[in-house]
Amino acid sequence: MGPAKLTIHHLYADMMNLYGDRGNVISIKKRCEWRGIPVEVVDVGLGEKVRPTGCDVFLFGGGQDREQALLAEDLSGSKGADLRAIVEDGGVVLGVCGGYQLMGRYYETPEGETLPGVGVFDLYTEPRKPEEARLIGNVLVRVPLENGSYGELAGFENHGGRTYLGDVDPLGKVVAGYGNNGEDGTEGARRRNAYGTYLHGSLLPKNPWFTDRLILSAIRRVDEGYELESLDDAVEKAAFASISARIAGR
Ligand code: GLN
Repeated sequence: MGPAKLTIHHLYADMMNLYGDRGNVISIKKRCEWRGIPVEVVDVGLGEKVRPTGCDVFLFGGGQDREQALLAEDLSGSKGADLRAIVEDGGVVLGVCGGYQLMGRYYETPEGETLPGVGVFDLYTEPRKPEEARLIGNVLVRVPLENGSYGELAGFENHGGRTYLGDVDPLGKVVAGYGNNGEDGTEGARRRNAYGTYLHGSLLPKNPWFTDRLILSAIRRVDEGYELESLDDAVEKAAFASISARIAGR
């Protein structure tokens, strides 16, 4: 029997796609196709239900405050409950920036409006103070992995919001850049197979190990022993090496 079909659920594809976050969809899709893994992309827009198939990756890109306000309402009902259940069940989710912020308990806009989040992560986001700048620039993050080793992620951040973690693990530690709030050295959040990050870029094309982590986690939910065929990642790794050297002055 061949590998199960992987379904990529692109949440609010037409609204939450800042700084090329759509590239995350393309990266997962191509890395599946290059391996002969059947893959389908499903857009999930305002008012549309999330329909898990069992082998899924849910992607939630970044967007400006006005889009986030529209989504908060859409996520406040059964859709948010469905996403919480998916995460509790070990579903694979990646939220970037504005999408990440809305995976927390709330996001307070610069205008003082408190947008309720899905509550997947115990975190909240507050606006920058008038005297504070937006957190903009290249970011390098060190991500602890299960076997005591670590991976690194390189990306680009541009957010005014400052995110503070409660009872949730960070995705990793900031090696260079600002991360969640520019103060505590954390970047992103992680719980089970749900990940949040400020890294745009898009994130996945130049961080192939993380792309494959998402793909493998999704497939192993239906085929525990599945192993991913390795790919020639010379181009992707060269892209990562180039940007990480520039970021970290390596
Ligand atoms: N509007 C949010 C902020 O500025 C998120 C922006 C984004 O997704 N880049 O913090």
